[in-house]
Amino acid sequence: MKDDNCIFCKIAAGEIPSATLYEDDDFRVILDIEPASKGHALILPKEHYANLYELDDELAAKAMVLAKKMVTKLTAILGCDGYNVVQNNGTVAGQTVFHFHMHLIPRYQGDGVKLGWKQGTLTDEVKEEILTKIREK
Ligand code: 5GP
Ligand code: ZN
Repeated sequence: MKDDNCIFCKIAAGEIPSATLYEDDDFRVILDIEPASKGHALILPKEHYANLYELDDELAAKAMVLAKKMVTKLTAILGCDGYNVVQNNGTVAGQTVFHFHMHLIPRYQGDGVKLGWKQGTLTDEVKEEILTKIREK
């Protein structure tokens, strides 16, 4: 399914031009227009899924395999020192385009890219609460 109002549907379908690194029946991989670092890429499914919650199971598995292949190939090409694979769901999590995508962000020593969070403490209370609830599901 496509969403007529979705820019990533149009890019994935080739209706809007993009710097395409890879394409198959299910996905297009493009360079991000506002990269966090040199080579920052996005994996876009060709069908519209707003986020990970909606994503088809089979496609989810394929997306991870593709991420592995792209990261391996791009590491050799870019000569980067590491990679972040990032995937945002919901505005609160930083999602700005509501068509599922995975960020492939090459990391270079001293690049100054910030993706971090302030580390908290796992309390016994919270741990027990979550473990109890997940076992009930
Ligand atoms: P999000 O914040 O939703 O996880 O990531 C959206 C990403 O899409 C951002 O990194 C942004 O730079 C990128 N982006 C938004 N519009 C376009 C576009 O038209 N072309 C490309 N190549 N990237 C885009
Ligand atoms: Zn879409």
